[in-house]
Amino acid sequence: LPQDLHAPSRRTARGVEFGDRRDLDALMSNIAVAAPAHEAAPLIAGARRDGDRRDLVSPIDGSPLGAVYETRPLLCLEALEAARAGFALWSRTPAEARAACLERAALALENDAPRWLRLLQTEAGKTLDDAIGEWREAIDFCRYYAFEAKRRFQKAIALPGPTGEDNRLLCHGRGVVICISPWNFPLSIFIGQVAAALAAGNSVIAKPAGQTPLIAAQAVELLHRAGAPGAALNLLPGGGDIGAGLTALEGVAGVAFTGSMQTATKINRALAARDGPIAPLIAETGGLNAMIVDATALPEQVSDDVIASAFRSAGQRCSALRLLCVQEDIAGKLLTMIAGAARELTVGDPRDLGVDVGPVIDSAAQASLIAHIEVMNRTARAHFKGAAPSAPAGGYYVAPHIFEIASVSDLDHEVFGPILHVVRYRADELDALLDEIAALNFGLTLGIQSRIDAVIEHIASRRLAGNCYVNRNMIGAVVGTQPFGGFNLSGTGPKAGGPHYLDRFFVEQTVSINTA
Ligand code: GLU
Repeated sequence: LPQDLHAPSRRTARGVEFGDRRDLDALMSNIAVAAPAHEAAPLIAGARRDGDRRDLVSPIDGSPLGAVYETRPLLCLEALEAARAGFALWSRTPAEARAACLERAALALENDAPRWLRLLQTEAGKTLDDAIGEWREAIDFCRYYAFEAKRRFQKAIALPGPTGEDNRLLCHGRGVVICISPWNFPLSIFIGQVAAALAAGNSVIAKPAGQTPLIAAQAVELLHRAGAPGAALNLLPGGGDIGAGLTALEGVAGVAFTGSMQTATKINRALAARDGPIAPLIAETGGLNAMIVDATALPEQVSDDVIASAFRSAGQRCSALRLLCVQEDIAGKLLTMIAGAARELTVGDPRDLGVDVGPVIDSAAQASLIAHIEVMNRTARAHFKGAAPSAPAGGYYVAPHIFEIASVSDLDHEVFGPILHVVRYRADELDALLDEIAALNFGLTLGIQSRIDAVIEHIASRRLAGNCYVNRNMIGAVVGTQPFGGFNLSGTGPKAGGPHYLDRFFVEQTVSINTA
């Protein structure tokens, strides 16, 4: 691994730690004065193009942020042509030079923290802790994939020669890769997908989420300044129609997608329906993530970990805890404790350091979460019902809620916000519970809280999730250390930030030379 992958901030399972209160005060005042970003527009081969203007507002308070010029569908084909030319250029660029570009991008991100943190707060509504975690992850992705590029591509792999020939294995980029990224990690997942595709020698057309185009536009500018040619990295901001238009193009060599399972399925169908070479889809989708707590678990630990896993980032992480499964014997006391901890959470403007839960991303998300709370109010038992703040006005706030449901199967879709569902189980029902979780057919994250090794091993051996967290929270996977991603309905793999992630981004070539 790169020596300095996680330097200089100290990342722990509980977030980012500051050495000194003065560091934090200085950071806060620099964030407040950092230059804001105002516009995002299509960028093809480095040239800014026109689009349909849409005003952007902050989820914090509805204040104007600027505008996005959304791509008109006709530009998709033009972007593909540009990216093809970009591929011809970038795929001939040595791996070392590609890696150096990503390393420069990492350094530029690191040296400009206040600007990125401000953007993450205003455009995506992140608390400072969440913003720092994401910014840090973006830097880690750039460095990690730079390292992987050097490891995989710098020189051919020498193969054994029982045939008497000189046999070598070479890896090359596939071609034009489409990167479609979500709003919940608008910097780190955006740059992670793009950095991986570029590291492997592909050219890219990036389509960021409609809610967070400003961060994406800034990230593309940063990568261009770091040395990625304009034609090798094109940006098409817009909605689902642009994503659909791009994935239907015959010349596309691969798609990296993070978002809903429904959209991943549509992309998979679109790719399969095209003529031309078969293009792989690397999808990271959602999960109905469970935490299983047996009667031996440490209540204080469980309470802290449940609060972090369910409510940090306002529950807007794919990894977040959705379904807490508590052994009947301790359920009463534990749920009282967790409800008490939830009561201590402050919901509000995430730029205020005392706030734990910021806004959800937009009014549509807020409306669908409120609708779910109303259904739960009628059908489930409430253990905690938070109150949304009255200020700041104009923001999209949903307070944490905890509802007990009768069985696992009552949770039939991913609820992407600060709403936790609870089920109880008896000790002799553990295997039936694991079967029910398996039947959901997702497989992203799983929490286990127990002090009995045999129980931990028994649950973990069921392979219910790609990321299994024992006696800790279940969010915030660290690049290079905790490769992230699931299986079944949760995604295709390979895992982001892991040693195999680049595999699907390149093709292999064997060269056999007769040396006789
Ligand atoms: N990697 C993030 C985590 O471990 C989640 C990414 C996502 O929400 O897509 O919490």
